[in-house]
Amino acid sequence: MFQPKKLTLLDEKILTAKALAFDVFVLHERAWLADRAEAVERLEQSVDGFGSLAVASDSTERLEEFLDHGIAFLESSLGPVLGDDSPLLLVYVSHLNQSRKKWLPISVQAEQWLGRMQKLGQKYLGQCSKEKLTVPKVRLYSDMQQKSCPLHGLGGLTDEEEGERVIWIFYFPPDFCLEGYFSIPYVLSHEFWCHALSGLAPKGAKRKSKSELFGCSPRNIFEEGWMDYVQFKILEKEMEAILGESSRVATFQDQSEAFHQLRNSRSGYRPVRYGALAARQFHGFLEQYADQLKVSDPDALFFQVSMDLNLLPGLADAKCDLVVEVGQHLGVFAPEEKGRSFIERNWNKNVDEKRKWLAGEIGKALKDSYLSPVDLFKILKVKPL
Ligand SMILES: [Zn+2]
Repeated sequence: MFQPKKLTLLDEKILTAKALAFDVFVLHERAWLADRAEAVERLEQSVDGFGSLAVASDSTERLEEFLDHGIAFLESSLGPVLGDDSPLLLVYVSHLNQSRKKWLPISVQAEQWLGRMQKLGQKYLGQCSKEKLTVPKVRLYSDMQQKSCPLHGLGGLTDEEEGERVIWIFYFPPDFCLEGYFSIPYVLSHEFWCHALSGLAPKGAKRKSKSELFGCSPRNIFEEGWMDYVQFKILEKEMEAILGESSRVATFQDQSEAFHQLRNSRSGYRPVRYGALAARQFHGFLEQYADQLKVSDPDALFFQVSMDLNLLPGLADAKCDLVVEVGQHLGVFAPEEKGRSFIERNWNKNVDEKRKWLAGEIGKALKDSYLSPVDLFKILKVKPL
């Protein structure tokens, strides 16, 4: 029987305790910053100490007991900074003790969030694709791996195994921080919408070669760039449904946005950033021309055509060409065209004309507010086959 690859108890203890400390802390952050800003740094140092605390603890110690030890450790290390009877400390510790009672292991939290994303995925597929598709079974593996966690001790990957999609979420406990915890839904959402839902449509082009079996380059402008913007917009809309509660929505959204920007502005990732930018321009373009296109919900149209494109198997190059063409029509230059925009004298006029032309062509191709990705390929003269 299938056994998910899990974190060791040691890693789970460290990550779960750190997450608890940060989750509660965000509710106190403003008060701390106003009164005792220097204590925030000490809190971060103390939370980093959970690593050695867990290593030193009895290896059979249960997670619940470890969380109690972690809280006691925080209290003793913050006491000298805040003062043992400081109201800031007392309220924080009492809040930690309250939250600890229902605090779930980090891997269980991730499972729950991904489970809700899968339900949403089915809903969006029903609204988008003309084909009756079901969200494939998605397994979640968790592991500890430093090289896969370039940002905030967190990373993700999607693979295919025995015909099922497997999402890996990687943690590197020593680097795992507040930003890492609040970005977990973002990483899951990226893996789910960009990769677990790619290439599912039974019709359409066949995969060309073995190397195209599954996966894409980490710099693929469609799946890593364009679709990353799409999933980020879905995540923004659905964060409360994914978390299953509302008290932390603002923090999760704030950190997801920061993670999205950070991820796409890393050096060497210009194409990915460009793909996300082209998607954002196309989204805005559909909103701008919604009346002319007679589309009541331009968001839905944007999600539909993006998801349908992603569902087509084996067209990695054509999808990337399409992103470049969309960008050119909307005034976004691909990285290798850097500089051209400053030379073209009729640039503004050209883009304005191109936008109008594109709106006209999309208007002709729309059927009941549905834009077939094949029609979009044709409009932009990209050969999908
Ligand atoms: Zn990716």
